[in-house]
Amino acid sequence: MSETGTCEKCASEISLEADRCPECGHEPSSSGILAGLLSMLATIGFILLAGFILIIWVVAIGTSFEITSAIYLTVFVLFLLLFPAGVLVAKMNQELKTPTGGKKDWREEIFGDN
Ligand SMILES: [Zn+2]
Repeated sequence: MSETGTCEKCASEISLEADRCPECGHEPSSSGILAGLLSMLATIGFILLAGFILIIWVVAIGTSFEITSAIYLTVFVLFLLLFPAGVLVAKMNQELKTPTGGKKDWREEIFGDN
């Protein structure tokens, strides 16, 4: 696996798998403070909403709270969950970008490339 491509920033011939251009230091996956903050908020929002769904069901099952109301609430919270989930997916796609403009295979990222 020694394919090369040109860096989007300095046009140097670099490895397609490089996370960072060795010539100019171009690194698409390192985003600014704002993007970092946004993904942090999205993560917190995601966890809070997921936790909220859990609480709805613990309460619904533990008390005489109507199951239909619990279902409606769950659907509503799931809808809200789409927003932080969307931000996180966009962030993940960004993380997988390489300086050559290509995209890393997330499966390779997780399982290693054999
Ligand atoms: Zn470069």
